[in-house]
Amino acid sequence: MSKRKLSLPAWIFIGMIAGVLAAGEKGVMIGKAINSMTEVIMQIMMMIIKLTPIGVFCLMTNVVAVNGASIVGTLALVIGVAYLGYFLHIVIVYGASVKFLSGMNPFAFFKGIAPAMITTFTTTSSNATLPVNMECCNKLGAEPEISSFVLPLGATINMDGTAIYQAVAAIFIACCYDVTLTIADMAMIVLTATLASVGTAGVSGAGMIMLAMVLETVGLPVEGIAIIAGVDKIFDMGRTTLNITGDATCALWISKMEQKKKAKAAAVK
Ligand code: ASP
Repeated sequence: MSKRKLSLPAWIFIGMIAGVLAAGEKGVMIGKAINSMTEVIMQIMMMIIKLTPIGVFCLMTNVVAVNGASIVGTLALVIGVAYLGYFLHIVIVYGASVKFLSGMNPFAFFKGIAPAMITTFTTTSSNATLPVNMECCNKLGAEPEISSFVLPLGATINMDGTAIYQAVAAIFIACCYDVTLTIADMAMIVLTATLASVGTAGVSGAGMIMLAMVLETVGLPVEGIAIIAGVDKIFDMGRTTLNITGDATCALWISKMEQKKKAKAAAVK
């Protein structure tokens, strides 16, 4: 059996963690430094996001000049396809999981979660919607200690909407560049889109940045992102709504399991 070796950066990382832990109180400074580095990176990201509309306008001017005005109709079609995917996923996957896993009426669920869905649709950020999502889930019967753990975790790693968007966008870009995708390429897109969505931050527009990784993996031109960048906000409104709805279904399901466990334990006593 072949043994996998850890790379040098991984060993350095492990060594650093061990050192920080061993340093105890004095290691707290490192934790604070990492936190402030995160804050600096977030601020840089926000500046880039603020400047994005200007850059996107310039990119779109070029795209329309090169491809003709008909590209606008094509983009509308792709948005329609992505929204169809979002809709089917919400109704079939989330509807069924709410009904069969949480034992809740899907209509009651969607009515209860509507404030969070509307907030997300307008903010396009899973993180920004966290407080509203928590409130909605708790009102629907989720345990506060479960929703306060599951929802932030979900806002970071559970992004079904982003994965759907990245797959649709990658296939569209392949068509634009006349690249014929094999079944293996498509399977690769599904796999990398799922992984990229896990690594996507819960902020507006992050999914489009991670799309570059999906495109690179299957050998599609990363510049293709320019074609959809101008309308990414519209994609983002739908995909983020899907993302937070998935987090809410998880919080309710886990709460239901915990409640059952507690009821069983109480019955045994
Ligand atoms: N805006 C999404 C979110 O916050 C991430 C993305 O851009 O796909 O969940």
